[in-house]
Formats: sequence, structure tokens, C-alpha cells
Amino acid sequence: MTTTTTLRPVDRVVTAHRQEEGGGFVVRRPFPTAGADHFDPFLLLDELGPVEYGPGEAIGAPQHPHRGFETVTYMLHGAMEHRDSTGGVGVIRPGAVQWMTAGSGIIHSEMPTDDMTRRGGLNHGFQIWVNLPAADKMTAPRYQGFEAEEFTRVALPGGGMLRVLAGTIAGHAGPVETSIPITYGHATLAPGDAVEWEVADGETALAHVFDGAADVSGTSARSGQLVVHERSSGVVRVSVPADGEGAEILLLGGRPIDEPIARHGPFVMNTREEIVQAVDDFNAGRLGSIPAVGSGVSRP
Ligand code: MN
Repeated sequence: MTTTTTLRPVDRVVTAHRQEEGGGFVVRRPFPTAGADHFDPFLLLDELGPVEYGPGEAIGAPQHPHRGFETVTYMLHGAMEHRDSTGGVGVIRPGAVQWMTAGSGIIHSEMPTDDMTRRGGLNHGFQIWVNLPAADKMTAPRYQGFEAEEFTRVALPGGGMLRVLAGTIAGHAGPVETSIPITYGHATLAPGDAVEWEVADGETALAHVFDGAADVSGTSARSGQLVVHERSSGVVRVSVPADGEGAEILLLGGRPIDEPIARHGPFVMNTREEIVQAVDDFNAGRLGSIPAVGSGVSRP
């Protein structure tokens, strides 16, 4: 029996460029750029590295605020230490995810661990920003942390692997609780592997190739290319031919929020007035502060 699958049409392919962020942090960023501000509900996609740090070279993001959306950090190599104004402290290790809902406001730092700073090493990961609907923008801040083994992992016939972090791909659901329907997957395709992802009609569907080359819903894409599908219907299919080299792909899907977006640096709200309020609240210290290292903890 043969079945016919309708592929989701591709709207455009966005090629990311490597750039240095403040402090020399190397990122590869498909969006936002001048030509692609956001793909509702996704506000930003940054590939952190890959970069091989020498001893003393590792760089991070010292304390800074966020309000009105979620930051999602997924590490593949290296480690990032997180501290925040709610007292949260954690290390995001390879394969782990921190899904942080900034909501009404949080101040956090995202820094290399002491060990990474001292010894150096390979650092590679992703950070995406997911918008929140107006009704959830001022929700209490929280974060969900998951270690690599908590994610659904599906072995593919050619030797590759699909990891589902959030939502459902190929019938496999991930553990993250999201405010609106969001799908986040990571496919490692070996030659001959394919994954079919049934995206709900009308939802945004992005496939970001970050290593190798793949066929994405009938369009060829290589490392650094984000394939943006139409918000129509049909499945997203990513594959690598049997004589191909393999590929690493992030799959990102979500229900569009379709509300006005006012963004200013680390704040993403609906109106300019709400941005002014966010800046005022931050300047007045109303987003809190990160507790001093070791406070409240007795050390030997
Ligand atoms: Mn941040």
C-alpha cells in the first residue's frame, strides 16, 4: 500500500551569518535580522558557537533583565551556569535544557562554569526566545530544567537520533510544559534517515540545519540555513539521502500569537508604553537582583 503525504510548502530559506555579540561571544543567528524580524511565536534563534575556548577565554552574559517572553537554552557541548533573581542556580550541561519563563521580569546571568573558564573547551548550544501572549506576559517568572536523559529519544533506522524536547514529532511527545503549543525537536540524521513531523494546520514550522546538508520538505538546505514553511497545512519532512553526509537539524513549531510586538533589547511586550514601564521597573530595581554567591548557604 502506498500513502501520499502532502509536504508543507516552503516559504523561504534564511541563511544565518556568524557574528560577534557584545564581549566577543560568537553566535550564528538566522533571526532577528534586517530581513527577518521574527517568526511568530519565535523571536530569536541563536546558535552559540561552536567555539573552542582556550584556558581563560570563555565568555558569557553577565546579569541582565528579561520581561514578557521565554528564553530556552539547549546545550550540546560545554556548560553554562545560570543564576537569577528568584534565587535559582543551575548548570546547563550537554543535552540539557533550561526553559525560562521571564514573565513579569527576571534578572539572570548566563556564564561559563568555573571549570570551563579555567580549562577551556568546546562550547556549543542554542538559545531561542519564545514570545508569550499578552495574557501571560506578566505571569510569575519560573524555569523548567531538564537533563539530557529526560527527553524522548527515538533511534532512527539509518543510525541517527530524534530528540523531542517539547510538543510532538512523529508521534513522540517531549516533557516541557509550554504556555502556547510549541514544538522543539533535534534530529541527527545519518545517511538514509528521514523524519516526518505533522505540524498542526496554520502553525509556524521552522527547520534549522546546523551541520551537514539535508532535504527539507523538498528544498535543499545546508548548515546555517533556516527553512521557513508556510503557515498552511502538510507535513514537514527532513531527510538525508543514502549517499549524503548526514545532518543536524532543529525543528521548531508553534501556534502564532498574532498580537502586536513591541521589542526593546531584553524586553518584549505588546505596546511601547509597556516597554517604557519595563525599563522604569528595571531601573527602579523592581525586577530584583541576583543574590550574592553563597548567600544563605553554609560552606565548609
Ligand atoms: Mn538572558
